[in-house]
Amino acid sequence: MKNKKLVMIPGPTPTIRSINDQMGRETVAFGDPEFVKDYKELIIDLKEMFKVDGECFVVAGTGTMAMEMAISNVTKRGDNVLIVSNGFFGDRFIDLCERKGLNVDVLSAPWGEVVSPETIESKLKEKNYAAMTVTHVDTSTGACAPIEEIGKIIKNYPDTIYIVDGVAATAGEREYVDDMGIDILFTASQKAFGVAPGLALLWAGQKALSRRKSLGTIPEFYIDFEKWIPIMNDPSKYFATPAVNMVWALKESVRVINEEGIEARYDRHIRVSKAIQSALESLGFKILAKEGNRGTTLSNVLYPEGINDAEFRKIMAEEGAMVAGGLAAYAGKLFRLGHMGNIDDHTVYSVIAVIERTLIKLGYKYEKGIGLKTLLENM
Ligand SMILES: *Cc1c(COP(=O)(O)O)cnc(C)c1O
Repeated sequence: MKNKKLVMIPGPTPTIRSINDQMGRETVAFGDPEFVKDYKELIIDLKEMFKVDGECFVVAGTGTMAMEMAISNVTKRGDNVLIVSNGFFGDRFIDLCERKGLNVDVLSAPWGEVVSPETIESKLKEKNYAAMTVTHVDTSTGACAPIEEIGKIIKNYPDTIYIVDGVAATAGEREYVDDMGIDILFTASQKAFGVAPGLALLWAGQKALSRRKSLGTIPEFYIDFEKWIPIMNDPSKYFATPAVNMVWALKESVRVINEEGIEARYDRHIRVSKAIQSALESLGFKILAKEGNRGTTLSNVLYPEGINDAEFRKIMAEEGAMVAGGLAAYAGKLFRLGHMGNIDDHTVYSVIAVIERTLIKLGYKYEKGIGLKTLLENM
């Protein structure tokens, strides 16, 4: 019998049955009163869950579209933007902003580390930035930025809109929009919400919304806040067709999150990530992100001497777990293991077991069972 393929990449993450059921429902008219009610409740729940006195947008698209939506609604051509980059997805903002005619300054950390709040503060003193972007957990490194501390600093810079890329963090890492001084937070459905790809989610606080108002007409159409605000407040109105089944699936994921309790969910991510990382270290792997700034949603795992990346990932897939390769300079040097969203303990044990089976097949010399033993002791 063929093994079930576990999707252990940093998105899409595994989808559970009740969420799949929503995606598989017969579609209804977007004006169907029951759908309108569901959509409206979803938006209210999401605002409450991430504590924003402002707006929440749920729009068909991906995380990259949400990045563009965030920037486009708070800046205009010629504005200064500060990009705090801790890896590949932080860097993605550079090209995105330059194409919009923004003046870009970049603060980068070596991969596995994060730019310190002190460094950010001294840069903010240099000039007036219309916006600053920070990636909460950069998926290319697994490093987690201190978004709360940065939020305290940004309070002293009222002209700067604080944008947090939560695509590999939101619903896995603690995030409270208003309390943490965040002006815009965004994510996508296929990461820690555990829904298939297809939806972008974005929260905007009052400061971001008044910036949007001050800009007048912006060049972007589909991702304009002003186009969507009337819809998010009354989804019976039409602007562009909502992804009906995906909205239902996201609503189910919110129900699943509330059933677990969001705080319990964050704690689970901490517990599981620590246990997985200890197990991997016991097997001879190293975690790229420095201790103290490791994300809880994924691990970027450096191979021990003698393990070939392509071979390792091929056997992993045959044994039943898909993991992702490294990006840029780390291609071939590490694999990326997602452990965010609706991942139960069975899955965690399975994936460490798959890694051990793979190591055995590769003829890697190690103490058999040590990964599972370490996992058991730390879960
Ligand atoms: C996945 C990811 C993105 C891009 O999201 P897409 O849905 O692939 O467009 C952006 N930022 C981070 C941190 C991500 O992990």
